[in-house]
This record gives sequence, structure tokens and C-alpha cells, in this order.
Amino acid sequence: MDLHGVREIVRPRSVEALPAWQPGDVMLGGGTYLFSEPQPAARRLIDLAALGLSPARREPAGLRIAATCRLAELASLEVASPAMSLFAPAVHCLWGSFKVHNVATVGGNLCLALPAGPMSALMVALDGLLCLRGPGGALRDLPARDFIVDFLTTRLHPGEMLESILVPNAALARQGVLRQASLTRYGRSAALLIGTIGDGGFSLTITAASKRPLRLDFGTLPSAEQVRHAAADALSPDILHDDIHGAPAWKRDRAIALAGEIAEALRT
Ligand SMILES: Cc1cc2nc3c(=O)[nH]c(=O)nc-3n(C[C@H](O)[C@H](O)[C@H](O)COP(=O)(O)OP(=O)(O)OC[C@H]3O[C@@H](n4cnc5c(N)ncnc54)[C@H](O)[C@@H]3O)c2cc1C
Repeated sequence: MDLHGVREIVRPRSVEALPAWQPGDVMLGGGTYLFSEPQPAARRLIDLAALGLSPARREPAGLRIAATCRLAELASLEVASPAMSLFAPAVHCLWGSFKVHNVATVGGNLCLALPAGPMSALMVALDGLLCLRGPGGALRDLPARDFIVDFLTTRLHPGEMLESILVPNAALARQGVLRQASLTRYGRSAALLIGTIGDGGFSLTITAASKRPLRLDFGTLPSAEQVRHAAADALSPDILHDDIHGAPAWKRDRAIALAGEIAEALRT
């Protein structure tokens, strides 16, 4: 839809060319959310695609993924690491057509902070380290698991931009299993869980059923029953997300069942 309050679109060619922050500024990723509903406070869009960041590159510490990496680009990355098997399935947990996957960005999905954000699930599961750029250019790192604090709420400061996410080598080396449940065949995720196992033990990330991602860590792989119990304890009534994509109690049941399935899948 048209965003009637927008007076200007800025297309910075580099991070150094980002404009000074002013009220009404809105970071534009792929725009698949921004252009889907009125944005009455928006006056100026800062089009991050113009930055021309490389979608992903290997670094000594791991895989650096630009916030502007499109979901389709992420799904087709060719990196020889066990955890890469999670990338395409995570993208396809967002039930959009190729038109959405070709424009929606990893950063936009994280910053929107919907409970069913598959990039949030993936980056929390893989110990993603977010690189955030403040309006004055100052950089700070924040673990993905600490980024989303509530429904549609992140730890981004005003004017701060998510620039990239580093997935460390140790996380890339982990085996992973993803499970997702929706109320309807092509419905938004009601429960989206990722389990990983490797050095450091077993980790379970629970999203969609909860308002924010939950991460449970175990020294070794517990039994399916123990994992189900841990998930049930974590999914307390206050953390359950209530929307049209499923009743909170049903989402909780699905998440607990999927947690057990993940433990069983990783045992075999
Ligand atoms: C058919 C369809 C299905 C969808 N299904 C899902 C789903 O299952 N799960 C889900 O989570 N979402 C879903 N969405 C919502 C949305 O499209 C996705 O979350 C998408 O990933 C958002 O990415 P984007 O790049 O288009 O973000 P945009 O619309 O560009 O931006 C989203 C928000 O993030 C901010 N932002 C974007 N990039 C940055 C950045 N680098 N730094 C700081 N702030 C930034 C924007 O200002 C805005 O507030 C769906 C949308 C459609 C149309």
C-alpha cells in the first residue's frame, strides 16, 4: 500500500553515507511488512538495499550474514557445514511465495520481532551475534538470544540499524533439526522449534508459541521425556503468544510435542 506520510526516500551507498537520524525515519529492508499496513509515523525511508552489502561471506570466526540478505539468498547459500541444513527449511517456515522470499530480508524479519519469525529462531538456535550500528556510527554486538524481548519489541535503540549477524564456526558445526506446526497447511507458524547438538551439548530454541524466543541448554542430550518437561516448564502462561494462528494452549501442546520429536530425531 502507499505510505502517505512518507516525504523522502534516502538510498545511502555505504554505511558511512547513512543520513543523520531524525524523527519519522524508518529503516527499509525488503518492505514486505512496511508496505503491508499504514505507517502513520513514517516520514522518511532509509533504503538499506542501497548499501550494497554482500549477502554473506566467510570470516575466520564464522559466517557473516548481512541484514539485507534476502531470504531466498539465505536459502541458497552454499557453505559446507552441518548447520546449513537448517537454513532453507527455516526460510520456508515463512509461508510466503517466491515474491516475498525474493525481497524480505533476514534483518527485517529479526527487527520486526514477530513470534513466528523464522530468522529469529535460526539465529537464536545458531548463537548468532548481531552487529548493530547506532545513528552516530558506533557499533555494538548483541547475542541474538537477547535481541527480542517481547512481541514486536527488540533491544534496538532509536535510530539503530541491524547491520549483520555472525554465525560462529562452532554453531555451524552443530547438527540441527527443525520442526514447525501451523493451524492450517500454509498458515503462519504456531510453534517453530530448532534443536542443535554438538560441542557444548544440546540446545533447544522455542519460537512462535512464545512471545519471544526461548533458548534451553543442556550439557548432554536428555531423553525426549525430559525435553518435553523442560519445554513445558519454559512455556509458562505469561509467555504464550495469543493470536489468530492458534489458541495459546494448543500452541503450547504442539511446542511440547515437537520438542520431544526433536530430541528423538537427534538421538538417531
Ligand atoms: C505472505 C506473507 C507471509 C508472512 N509470513 C511471516 C511469517 O511467517 N513470519 C514472520 O515473522 N513474518 C512474516 N511476514 C511478515 C514479513 O514479511 C516478514 O517478517 C519479513 O521477513 C520482513 O522482512 P522485510 O525485509 O520485508 O522487512 P521490512 O518490512 O522492510 O521491515 C520490517 C521492520 O524491520 C525494520 N527493519 C528492517 N530492516 C532493518 C534493519 N536492518 N535494521 C533495523 N530495522 C530494520 C523496519 O523498519 C520495520 O520496522 C509475512 C509477510 C507476508 C507478506
